[in-house]
Amino acid sequence: MKDMNKRLADLPKLAVEAKKESKKYFTNLKRRTPKNLDLVMHELHEAEFKKTDCLSCGNCCKTTSPIFTEKDIDRISKHLRMKVIDFETQYLDRDEDDFMVLKSAPCTFFDESDNTCFIYDVRPKACSEYPHTNRKKFIQITELTLNNTEICPAAYNIVETLKKRLPMHSNKKVRRS
Ligand code: SF4
Ligand code: SF4
Repeated sequence: MKDMNKRLADLPKLAVEAKKESKKYFTNLKRRTPKNLDLVMHELHEAEFKKTDCLSCGNCCKTTSPIFTEKDIDRISKHLRMKVIDFETQYLDRDEDDFMVLKSAPCTFFDESDNTCFIYDVRPKACSEYPHTNRKKFIQITELTLNNTEICPAAYNIVETLKKRLPMHSNKKVRRS
């Protein structure tokens, strides 16, 4: 836990420092995407989450909202024995991109005493897949991932490890003199 507190305290500065370089890296990765990228991401994701305990972190639940899809809303309302309309009125708002999100952070369903989720078994798909670093066609979500490096210490480590594992060099030619 102490280690995680330090990781979380250091993360904003580290993520901002790395962002410019990571942005360049992902631009090059998009230009020359290796065929095995998803496989590598899957490996890095698995390795990182073997050593990262989300129960000692909870930073995603503390600071951001997942998107609630219609399916999520139906499933969670049912679980809470609430009418969909009541659930939406009580907990959700529509954001500027027309997605249903939580009214406030930390998440209403987050237990700050032990970083658990009251609705874990029926939680939104976006929560169960966060930080999406093992998603198929990872190349399509590099911008989202960059943003997540500022929130999720595991996502930050995964991106930093990826940069070492699949180094990208600019194709820019250097003129001989
Ligand atoms: S629903 Fe659960 S997993 Fe999702 S943000 Fe809230 S507390 Fe976290
Ligand atoms: S997914 Fe990331 S931000 Fe969320 S609890 Fe796990 S390590 Fe922390």
